[in-house]
Amino acid sequence: MTVSSFQPPARVLMGPGPSDVHPRVLAATARPTVGHLDPAFSAMMDEIKSLLRYAFQTENALTFPVSAPGSAGMEACFVNLIEPGDTVIVAINGVFGLRMKENVLRCGATPVVVEDDWGTAISLDKVAQAFRDNPGARALAFVHAETSTGVRSDAKALCTMAAESGALSIVDTVTGLGGIPVQVDDWGADAVYSGTQKCLSCPPGLSPVTFSDRAADVVRNRKTPVQSWFLDLSLVMGYWDGSGGRSYHHTAPVNALYGLHEALVMLREEGLEAAWARHDRLHHALVTGLQAMGLEMLVDEDHRLPQLNAVCVPEGVDEAAVRKALLDDYGIEIGAGLGALAGKVWRIGLMGQSCTPRHVTLCLAALEGTLARFQANIATGQAVAAAQRALAA
Ligand SMILES: *Cc1c(COP(=O)(O)O)cnc(C)c1O
Repeated sequence: MTVSSFQPPARVLMGPGPSDVHPRVLAATARPTVGHLDPAFSAMMDEIKSLLRYAFQTENALTFPVSAPGSAGMEACFVNLIEPGDTVIVAINGVFGLRMKENVLRCGATPVVVEDDWGTAISLDKVAQAFRDNPGARALAFVHAETSTGVRSDAKALCTMAAESGALSIVDTVTGLGGIPVQVDDWGADAVYSGTQKCLSCPPGLSPVTFSDRAADVVRNRKTPVQSWFLDLSLVMGYWDGSGGRSYHHTAPVNALYGLHEALVMLREEGLEAAWARHDRLHHALVTGLQAMGLEMLVDEDHRLPQLNAVCVPEGVDEAAVRKALLDDYGIEIGAGLGALAGKVWRIGLMGQSCTPRHVTLCLAALEGTLARFQANIATGQAVAAAQRALAA
């Protein structure tokens, strides 16, 4: 067998992540590897921590990227804060809420599930009722930006409710960070995790996390050791917290961290507010174009995520064949529906570097041409123009 270098095809990434990675970030990851305890590298780690505090809008000392994808950030929050016998209220309105419940169970704790229909936001009333029914709950866990449905929930109200009930808040904002306001201190959130391959537009593989001082105290005062050695914050912080001299825990993914540093520098250059406004503006242009074609959105206007657009598949259309044609004919990747929404929606991502006028117009033109070829009942010749009018307004 002869094996040669892998050459990835040229793609336009408009699914639920990863998103397109800027050449500056790719170039950063190609710089020479240095030792992970090299003083120059340590200085860069400190910059990453402070850039992440900016991205998360927090002063939390305990803010760093876990050396593994978003799912590991999720796991880090649960295994450090939850102990056997705890009760945790878990709000579920999509795939990622289900995974939170799975984490609670594996910590030996009891999940109290609050369910909402997929495609709708988390009901504050139901969560309030769950706190009344479970006064001793240790934590509330919820997904701020549900990538499986394209729904945004009210993180501030949910975190406030948890704090008022004496519970910690555990927040998944893997898809939120860099795309919509994530204001950890203003929310009063306790444990928040994200990912690099969504609106931060890095390669996948790192999970920025931040913990409040209150959460850090909970970790310090645990009755039982954290069951995961790799994710045990008390050990990881010996490495990420330079104050006592950095000690070896695991070898940091050096080049991946160069990439994250560069992406965060770019976010800082653009400015968080400008990045949020860009996502909002292009989302409106995309939706205007989709609606001009006669397509419908899954989520009510008030709860839509700009960076993840769930579009209903028109009657009689083979959704997988459309995605395949977009990939084969145009190099465009969009996402399929998950779980209860499989076959019913497409998920069009406008995340980070994949959120530009070029992406919106290209996607609309390619989708329209493909649907027309599949004889779907849509209006043709209007979508791109409608989106461009929206962008010019
Ligand atoms: C992508 C995603 C995750 C998981 O991140 P991985 O990097 O795939 O492990 C978790 N939660 C949400 C909301 C996500 O969108």
